[in-house]
Amino acid sequence: GLAGKVALVTGSTSGIGLSIVNHLADLRCNVILNGFGETKHIEDVQTNLKRQNIKVNFFEDDLSTVQGNLTLCDNIYRIYPTGVDILVNNAGFQHVSPVETFPTAKWEQMIGLMLTSPFLLVQKFLPEMKRKEWGRIINISSVHGLVASPYKAAYVSAKHGVHGLTKVVALETAETGITCNAICPGFVDTPIYQKQVESRSQTDGCSYDEASRRILELNHPTLQPIGTHQVAKFVEFLCYEAASQITGSCLTMDGGWTAR
Ligand code: NAD
Repeated sequence: GLAGKVALVTGSTSGIGLSIVNHLADLRCNVILNGFGETKHIEDVQTNLKRQNIKVNFFEDDLSTVQGNLTLCDNIYRIYPTGVDILVNNAGFQHVSPVETFPTAKWEQMIGLMLTSPFLLVQKFLPEMKRKEWGRIINISSVHGLVASPYKAAYVSAKHGVHGLTKVVALETAETGITCNAICPGFVDTPIYQKQVESRSQTDGCSYDEASRRILELNHPTLQPIGTHQVAKFVEFLCYEAASQITGSCLTMDGGWTAR
């Protein structure tokens, strides 16, 4: 089992990351949270997790900067001298703009968060994983790591880039008991998705379910969004011995999006 493993999930104050951290805590991992949000919300999340009788830590370092990543690693090594066992690079956000007017600062922030941060965290935690001869590195990518959509230059570039990192790290760790993979979800049923559906149902004057169907019919043949708990369960599976031969893979969970 995964009891007693130390898991860092970046961007775990909301959405997919929060679901992953809750699930790993249910499996009795010690968890390290990171991300932004209201103090009260983050305190409630931690209180809830601590009911599992596990160690829970939270660091709000901004992982779009190099310094934020280095500070997070220092903070973690102070608590856990042998680092983390499970690293889930999940923090990310979207910004849409035509490429001609895409703000350079946004580009740098998004590449920093979704590509450079996974690189830095792998670099810092890999030596200890190698010493322990066990580790799981899971990058939460997107179908946008495999295919593109217009107006998402930085997001699509960062996610394609993290697939390259995933493959290189998998090869460099192939004989070490460590695996490195990417999960590529389509639309996930997060607050952001729900807001999009609500606004579509208003503009189209239709029900929530009909608006959801209209958004999904373009891309998701299943016409259902992915549950955050389904991504968390996928992470769990990748941590097991049954998945020890899955490495360097960019695994889709996309309702059939990329099958077309
Ligand atoms: P979310 O907005 O609910 O959560 C994002 C998390 O990242 C939050 O905890 C936030 O505080 C944190 N974060 C944002 N900027 C940060 C920074 N600079 N430093 C540290 N933490 C930061 O988003 P989500 O939908 O749960 O997305 C999580 C991941 O899943 C992202 O990498 C995203 O690209 C990917 N993804 C999401 C979907 C989807 O439909 N929601 C689909 C495919 C992939």
